[in-house]
Amino acid sequence: MTNALTAEQNLKLYLFANGITVDPEAEEVWRDEFKGPMSLNEYASTSGLCLKIEDGKDGVWANAPYIHEFAQASQARLAHDAGFVIQHAGIEYPVEVVPVPAYHQQSYTDGDKQYPYTNLGVTHTDRVRVSPIEGCAWRCDFCNLPYEFKYRKKPMEELLRVIGVATEDVQAPARHVLISGGTPRKSDEGWIDEVYEYLADQSPLPVDVMMPARDNIAYPAWLGSVGVNMLSVNLEISDEERARQITPVKAKMLGKRYYLDYIERAVNDLGVGNVQSLIVFGSSVEPIESTLEGVQDLVDRGCIPVLSPFRPDPNTPMEREEPATQEEMEIVYETAMKICSDSNSGVKPGPRCNACSHNTVSFHDGSDFYIGKEDAITRPLNAAAA
Ligand code: SF4
Repeated sequence: MTNALTAEQNLKLYLFANGITVDPEAEEVWRDEFKGPMSLNEYASTSGLCLKIEDGKDGVWANAPYIHEFAQASQARLAHDAGFVIQHAGIEYPVEVVPVPAYHQQSYTDGDKQYPYTNLGVTHTDRVRVSPIEGCAWRCDFCNLPYEFKYRKKPMEELLRVIGVATEDVQAPARHVLISGGTPRKSDEGWIDEVYEYLADQSPLPVDVMMPARDNIAYPAWLGSVGVNMLSVNLEISDEERARQITPVKAKMLGKRYYLDYIERAVNDLGVGNVQSLIVFGSSVEPIESTLEGVQDLVDRGCIPVLSPFRPDPNTPMEREEPATQEEMEIVYETAMKICSDSNSGVKPGPRCNACSHNTVSFHDGSDFYIGKEDAITRPLNAAAA
């Protein structure tokens, strides 16, 4: 390797691009210890094994795909000896495995129907993601939600209850919340505003929101006023023609110019360090040069760029497209780091929470920008920079 990354960081990118195979004995130990499945098996980017590769510091978090179709040619293998290790290129890397929470096996009742709790909330590492809307009012070619699930609003009291359950989970207790999931229909925007307000007020844990831009540019300020901690407004695709093809409803309704104006205003109202935007990259999505233009656009506005390597979901129109390569990940990460450092904006590739970086290309670099497992989850960036 000729890049500036550590062996553990390069291993993470290798796992993203190639996946991991699992030694049957390691699988047996995992299932014995945690009494359940090894993975959440939902979105393409979160359906792998959740692992923390030990590096003598804060660790390198990785979500490693292991389904046979994706990972069969991988040279990385999860094994178990005295503890879990990844064997790759003649080296053994000790890892901490992150189990699927125990509450994922439980269910709740809505009307006369029984639903699994995972239908309301899912914990990845230390963050529980709740989804007020099942399915989605929009359609994007890389996302499984509109293709797999029928549109439905979920009871807000149950959403609050799952946050409480996730907080107390014996295997993987959550310490912050992300409200995300499908986009509401226009007629349901008032309802979801009530959900945001209710959960931000009642949740025992800090609440972040991930949502598309609204046509009211002052909306992020309102979210801040009701107690939302951080906002994610995802650009996803920088090239406007590709955005019209892959995310047609969003591109038609809002457009890139408005998105960037909205993000700039959000940073202004919520502060640098409290607004992030995810970009999905890989040549199946758009040319890397265009991704990097998008990163520059975000960083210029003080917005944290979140680099999400494209991994095809088998239930979407992009199921046969190539995933982002390891080389693309290296280029995008190193160039994004340079863009951030040249900007003096204070931002770096996100998310700031190290554990939540398990499915993004970013690494805790020892600076106070990033939030480790022992740090306060809501640490303001200005205090960190001081
Ligand atoms: S708007 Fe979001 S949730 Fe809806 S289809 Fe697109 S990516 Fe998926």
